[in-house]
Amino acid sequence: MTSKVHNPYENAQTQFDGIAELLELSTGAKQLLRQPMKEMHFTIPVKMDDGTTQVFNAYRIKHNDARGPAKGGIRFHPHETADTVRALSMWMTWKCAVVDIPLGGGKGGVVCDPHNLSLSEQERLCRGYVRQLHTQLGPNVDVPAPDVMTNGQHMLWMLDEYETMMGGRYPGMITGKPVGMGGSIGRTQATGYGVVYVLEGLLREMNIDPATTSASIQGFGNVAEYAAKLYASLGGKVKAVSCWDQADSKSYAFYCEDGLDVEKLAEIKDSYGSIDKVKAAALGYEILPGDEWISQDVDILIPAALENQITLETFPKISKSVKIICEAANGPTTPDCDKLIHERGIMLLPDFLANGGGVTCSYFEQVQCNMNYFWGEDEVNEKLKFKMTHAFQAVYDLAKEKNLYMRDAAYIIAINRVADAAKRRGWILFTSMILHGRCTQKAF
Ligand code: GLU
Repeated sequence: MTSKVHNPYENAQTQFDGIAELLELSTGAKQLLRQPMKEMHFTIPVKMDDGTTQVFNAYRIKHNDARGPAKGGIRFHPHETADTVRALSMWMTWKCAVVDIPLGGGKGGVVCDPHNLSLSEQERLCRGYVRQLHTQLGPNVDVPAPDVMTNGQHMLWMLDEYETMMGGRYPGMITGKPVGMGGSIGRTQATGYGVVYVLEGLLREMNIDPATTSASIQGFGNVAEYAAKLYASLGGKVKAVSCWDQADSKSYAFYCEDGLDVEKLAEIKDSYGSIDKVKAAALGYEILPGDEWISQDVDILIPAALENQITLETFPKISKSVKIICEAANGPTTPDCDKLIHERGIMLLPDFLANGGGVTCSYFEQVQCNMNYFWGEDEVNEKLKFKMTHAFQAVYDLAKEKNLYMRDAAYIIAINRVADAAKRRGWILFTSMILHGRCTQKAF
């Protein structure tokens, strides 16, 4: 999608360094927080259905656990790298801190393409992952969850392997489990719903009725689907959705000036979020090249796919009509674009705030598992909305009060909380400048 190669870990560190300077963090604090505390790189031999053995490279990286056990998903992706997992683990720390749940940051990944693996091969891969890592996992140590191309079934296989090895039941060891097997009602929808709860908060502050707005979304996986559904239920018009087409090895954008029917779109997608072109055309939708999601004349852009999609190369394609970028994916914007977004007056809902609904519901799942008592749908959604709205408001108020870009305000809150926890544990020296009213300039 872009010629320049962007390294998500460098991006995450660049973002951190800007805020660390603003907060006048000590050298020790900076060293601790700008890199992961622990990394596991390992291989998983898997017996394939044809009798051969394939060896997969895998990672689990713990960025920081000062505020609680490490938490974060496991991705299955053919282009997974250690640096991607490092960046994502770092963003998990800030995510858990900004939504104020007692968890740290971690992330895992396996270099594989599940499209090419049978279900039994996927099961053996999941079990192999846990066999290699079980001493480093656990409800009080590090708690995985689903992420790109992993789902509740993968989590359940991982839990079953862990429990078999440990000789007991540890439902809080992993989240995103199927409902009825220790999962929380609402977990599947939670990341997408959380995106819309923070978006609603921002629209309210901007005095804009969601029903008068339109959006273009990149991706149609789980997060995008439920964000689109909730946004449409508020009257918002989803004019474009782009997604990857596995058969053609490229992406397409589906467009409708009057708004796509997202419920129908969800019915004609596969489990990886690819929309059936023939069926979409039959619904009367225009089919455009995938990268055109970004150039639509809409009010809101929602990148909900992978990292590095809004770059110096793609930024000029953003229509003048866009007022809000709501980052549903992790790291969709490169740091060099933040200045441009800010200068153009586009409001940005940063990724680790906007997509924090998933891990918030994961936390609820752990709480319910610990109680062995499960809440109903309304109770989960009400608690989720409360947490997300509260987190949004704290970020928005700080940004307004100190004249900050919202990504910087979110970072200041998150880094403050983590640095404070590390200080109270005696790991680092830290005095919060923002709490002493000294932080007034922008972080650029
Ligand atoms: N994978 C999701 C994320 O990036 C959820 C993580 C979790 O629930 O632990 O936020």
